[in-house]
Amino acid sequence: MENNRRNFLKSVAGLSTLAASAVPGISSAAKSKAGPVAQVKDIRLSKNKGYVRLVFDLDGIADHSIFALHAPERVVLDIKKANMQHGMVDRVQANSLIKSIRSGERNGDDLRVVFDLSKGVTPRSFLLAPSGQSGHRLVIDLHDNKKTSTVKSTNKRDVIIAIDAGHGGRDPGATGRAGTHEKLVTLQIAKRLEKQINQQRGMKAILVRKNDRYMRLRDRIAKARDNHADMMISLHADSYPDPRARGSSIYALSVDGASSETARMLADKENAADQLFGDVNLAVEDQMVKEVLFDLSLTGTIESSLDIGGEILNQIKTVNRVHKKQVQQAGFAVLKAPNIPSILIETAFLSNPREEKNLRSATHQQKVAKAITRGVGKYFARKAPPGTWLASSECDYAVCSEDSIATIANQHNVNETDLRARNALYADNLLAGQVIKIPVS
Ligand SMILES: [Zn+2]
Repeated sequence: MENNRRNFLKSVAGLSTLAASAVPGISSAAKSKAGPVAQVKDIRLSKNKGYVRLVFDLDGIADHSIFALHAPERVVLDIKKANMQHGMVDRVQANSLIKSIRSGERNGDDLRVVFDLSKGVTPRSFLLAPSGQSGHRLVIDLHDNKKTSTVKSTNKRDVIIAIDAGHGGRDPGATGRAGTHEKLVTLQIAKRLEKQINQQRGMKAILVRKNDRYMRLRDRIAKARDNHADMMISLHADSYPDPRARGSSIYALSVDGASSETARMLADKENAADQLFGDVNLAVEDQMVKEVLFDLSLTGTIESSLDIGGEILNQIKTVNRVHKKQVQQAGFAVLKAPNIPSILIETAFLSNPREEKNLRSATHQQKVAKAITRGVGKYFARKAPPGTWLASSECDYAVCSEDSIATIANQHNVNETDLRARNALYADNLLAGQVIKIPVS
């Protein structure tokens, strides 16, 4: 392999087999009139799952073009007004993809680099402006054709999230000192949450109730099930005799319609729920919450409800104090496998005057809705149900220090917002080595 490269550098005749116009003759006269010439200072190679990356360190901006040729497989990189020391390509270590690299001058002061490959690739390239200790960089990614040509099915379904605004109609829920009804703020937050979730690629929200109407718990669950919900979020606002009680709480549930039928038949739900949840220290004045929690006792908690609840709690923490630091659950025996992982969010205490004010505030409601959306997104970016867009990915990609969300999106030809949604990237800081999923477009 080394010999191949050296042979080429001595005699660049190989280029003429690539393109008739490739005349690698030295023409210093042509160079001098043509303005600044970028120098390739270094070439670095890294191997990643599904592709090989080459970074050309340049001392200035340069135009480039790249294309693939077949039989034999090659990739040709042309950099305008650039040159490179002979022997530079030898710095690149041999690997299973690149058999040899050759370089030569073209059209006087352009640089042509040819990669002889062991198999077909799809080349992608982008330029990076100087940042930190790095200068101008031209990044070339050679994607394994097998990996990139995986079936790009666009009819992957969305993850469905049922949003259940607690109470409604003749059941106002708790009432704050300023007269705020729980049923109103839960509906307002539910609508904001619906909007936020629907802005995320791969997720679709269903409102269990869209207006001020009474719904029985089993009808709520039926609605979620009829819409094939992957999870259900029940929104409530807490109430407690002591007005100082404050903060958000999350309960992990698993909802099963059949078991709530059983629950419904129990005459004294309240007492039963009190007995079951006596050790959970619930400040529950709320009959509906008791019913939902009682349902949990029949279906059992499941990992995914706790997992989702944990992600949401982490996000809620950033916008409101939390009443309980962990997702609340009760240690009941699992009676049957649940079919819709569910969580119940006590957004804040309506019985606390300050929190009542927050619950009425559009700004605060919006913050809560966004926090819940981030939590849901983080969960489903990891554990989306099979067959959903969020579960699909073209390949795993290990983030390099040169990368930003924008450059990764660009080089993989995916939408930046899709890349964010697929990986729940809500901030801009990527860590080198972090593995992210490249979504199927
Ligand atoms: Zn409630």
